[in-house]
Order: sequence, then structure tokens, then C-alpha cells
Amino acid sequence: MEPSQVAIIGSGLIGRNWAMVFAAGGFKVKLYDIAQQQLTSALEYIRKQMKELEESESLKGTLSAEQQLALISTCTDLKAAVEGATFVQECTPENLELKRKIFGQLDLIADDNVILSSSTSCLLPSKVFTGLKHVKQCIVSHPVNPPYFVPLVEIVPHPETDPSTTERTYALMKQIGQSPVKLNREIEGFVLNRLQYALISEAWRLVGDGVISPTDLDLVMSDGLGMRYAFIGPLETMHLNAEGISSYCERYREGMKLVLNTFGPVPEFSGEIEEKINQAISEKIPVVPEVLGARRNWRDECLTSLAKMKKQMKSD
Ligand code: NAD
Repeated sequence: MEPSQVAIIGSGLIGRNWAMVFAAGGFKVKLYDIAQQQLTSALEYIRKQMKELEESESLKGTLSAEQQLALISTCTDLKAAVEGATFVQECTPENLELKRKIFGQLDLIADDNVILSSSTSCLLPSKVFTGLKHVKQCIVSHPVNPPYFVPLVEIVPHPETDPSTTERTYALMKQIGQSPVKLNREIEGFVLNRLQYALISEAWRLVGDGVISPTDLDLVMSDGLGMRYAFIGPLETMHLNAEGISSYCERYREGMKLVLNTFGPVPEFSGEIEEKINQAISEKIPVVPEVLGARRNWRDECLTSLAKMKKQMKSD
């Protein structure tokens, strides 16, 4: 049987990762970009990554690297890219005008069955999809960088998205081994970035107020909270840290409110505090392409090992 086909629009960091994820799931992938050299570099990147992952026995899916590579082709013609696809994942730069233009073009060539999905990190579906003829088939599937190693996908519908589009997208993400979550409605920052920004804000305030050094602040996450957050969320943490949620609330509600009432205003993320944090983190990881690249590779290796471990430990 012919494998199902998806189109990836934009072959940058996120597009090339999606291509790998879909190929690992056995899908035929057409990778589209306006820049031929981006496509060439994407294919080189994908080949290198897949070979290395295969060598370290971390390649996803049941197919070999060569079999997965054979599923991926590139093209610079949008219509040809989308033809025969049941799912289109847009991964172009985070620019509303550009995304509206691309979805406008996709709207003209889409049939009534294909799902048109965007990787956007912060643009609301109502901004990107409103007015499209195929709005019922449009959805945001927001990945986490790098999607090959971090499986979460936030599925965010437009108010007019058909529930079947949400369900099909959810099922597809599960099928390719990602970990989808559904938002019932759109909200600024979706959920992941709202949680992330809450953390970043308090980190910024604590360092700015001289309570802790930038590097120690990061350790609080990596050797503290983060250890359990790789396995359980904050709500389950509450549940397990007492005799259930109600017991936790009974014990800690007043204490939590007391602390939360001391949180300061939204930081400016500039000026002296920015300089202080930049200096401390750059001392540890200089802002030099090779150093940043090596650190990212190390991060991805850690994520691969963690993913393997999570798979072994999975109980539900
Ligand atoms: P990127 O700049 O690495 O890649 C964008 C690609 O789109 C480039 O290859 C570029 O040539 C191509 N492109 C530009 N105009 C195009 C057009 N008209 N048609 C087709 N291709 C075009 O960007 P990225 O980091 O891969 O981000 C892509 C999307 O994913 C953004 O919406 C971003 O917000 C989202 N996202 C990014 C991250 C992240 O951490 N990078 C995480 C989650 C979601």
C-alpha cells in the first residue's frame, strides 16, 4: 500500500525536524521551500542526523535511515508539494503577513479533506486563518524545539475549526509518536509558553533582586524542579507531595498565596539585569557559533537519552 503523504512548507529548523518525524512514522514527505539552498541543506542535515541516530540506536520508527530518507523528497512548487497530501504542516518564519499569504495560497489549492496546520509559536489561529474558505480544516500544531527529541505538540483550533480536524490531527500526532495536547480555545502564548514565561519572569525577578546568581537559578530547575517535571507535571506533583490534591491545598494554600502575592510586576527584560544575566550565562557558554552548536548537540543527546528512559519507565 502507498504510504500516506504529508507536505511540509518551509525547510528550516522546524520543517526539517517535522520531515524526520513524519518519515519515522512511515509517511511520504514532500518538503517545500522558496529557497533551493535551504532544501539542499535540509536534506544534508536530515541525512546526517538519521545516520547518527541509527548508529546510536536512537532512530525513531521501524524503518532504517535509508528507508526513511527515501520517503523524503523536496520541491519548490507549492501545488506539487501539496498534491496528494492529507496533511500540510506549515513551518515558515513567524510573521503574520507571510503566514496569511501562504495560507491564502494553500486555501486556493486545498481540497475539502486535507488538514492545513501551522507550526506557529505565538500567532493566534484567529489571526492566521480567519476568512479562509477552508477554515474548518485549519489548525495550529505547535511543536517544541527540537520536535524530533521533544514530542509535545499543542493543538490549537480556530473558533471555526471543525472538531473532526482537531480529532484527526490529534490521532495523526499520536500515530507518528508525538505527544499531542488539545487546547479547547486559543489563548495568547498557548499553554507551554504561558508556563515558560511565568518561570522566566520569576527567574528574572529573583536574579534582578539579587536573591540568587543566574547560574544557581538555572540549577534550581535542572537539578531540582526539572528532575521531576520530566516525568510528572505540577498538578500531579501536588497530588504526590501530599495525600492528594485536596490535602495539598489544605496544607499549602495559604503559604502559596502568601508567596504568590510577593511576585513583582512583569519585567522589562532589558537594561542592567539583562546585562548581568547575559554576562553570567555567556561566561559559561560563550556566544560563539561552534560553542552554541556543541551545547545544542549535547542538549539533544541528553534529550535522546531521556526519551529512551521515559519510554522504558512509561507506566500509563
Ligand atoms: P526558520 O527560519 O529556521 O525556517 C523558515 C524556513 O521557511 C526557511 O527555510 C525559509 O527559506 C522558508 N520560507 C520563507 N518564506 C517562505 C515561503 N514563502 N514559502 C515557503 N518557505 C518559506 O524558522 P523555524 O525556526 O523553523 O520556525 C518555523 C515556524 O515554527 C515558525 O512559525 C516558528 O514560530 C515555529 N516554531 C519555532 C520553534 C523554534 O524554536 N525555532 C519552536 C516551535 C515552533
